[in-house]
Amino acid sequence: MRILVTNDDGIFAQGLWRLVKELNNIARVVVVAPDREQSAIGTAVTLHQPLRVQKVRPMVPEVDTYSVVGTPSDSVILALEKLVKNRVDLVVSGINEGLNLGEDVLISGTVGAALQGYLRGLPALAISVDAVNSLHLDNAAKLATLLAKKIDSNTLPTNIFLNVNLPDLPLPKIKGAKITRLASKSHTDTVEEGHDGKRKYYWLVRQQVNKATDEATDTWAIEQGNISITPLHTDLLGKPSPPLPDGLCSELLRELKQ
Ligand code: MN
Repeated sequence: MRILVTNDDGIFAQGLWRLVKELNNIARVVVVAPDREQSAIGTAVTLHQPLRVQKVRPMVPEVDTYSVVGTPSDSVILALEKLVKNRVDLVVSGINEGLNLGEDVLISGTVGAALQGYLRGLPALAISVDAVNSLHLDNAAKLATLLAKKIDSNTLPTNIFLNVNLPDLPLPKIKGAKITRLASKSHTDTVEEGHDGKRKYYWLVRQQVNKATDEATDTWAIEQGNISITPLHTDLLGKPSPPLPDGLCSELLRELKQ
């Protein structure tokens, strides 16, 4: 199995390398990621300037690693169309430090990168944790690896695009795993105003909405201390995504805690 790994936190992010280290145990991993942080860049692609790529020394030995002066989506497109000569079986984006829930998937660079894999017919995972400098990145890395194995063994459909989020909890404190749908409201946007001495400026400030009430949503699952797995799709007319097998969540949780 060959896995393309990318992110939106930049090529030096610890979440990316924790993920690579774990996936490297079960697959050939290639890393193609932005040279700097690109969080909230969404699905942006660079069409009006050239893209520069540099092969760089990996933080996990013998993993082909390319740094891109471009967006997460640029990185995946470049990887799949040009840089990786062999067939890629899965695209994994993350581990993002910070949740990507609800309508936030539309501005998330992490999810945007995974989307480019899915649009090219590959299974794609976006994986995020509920913290910056999370102490529990290993849970997410292990979960991504379990999902990759299930995709490789055809236990999961291959035309899937999953948005996975984990609470920032040690493994024994994680309550469960839930298949969810996106919450309609995960954030409020406010605009703060200031003055830099010369001119007025504005800061966009996003705040997470607390206390979800709908138990089917990703925000509810996370607030209750669960792992949230949301199948996404790109049919804006609402065609449902392929069903996931019964018992997947309990199986994943059991395997994660082994
Ligand atoms: Mn990010």
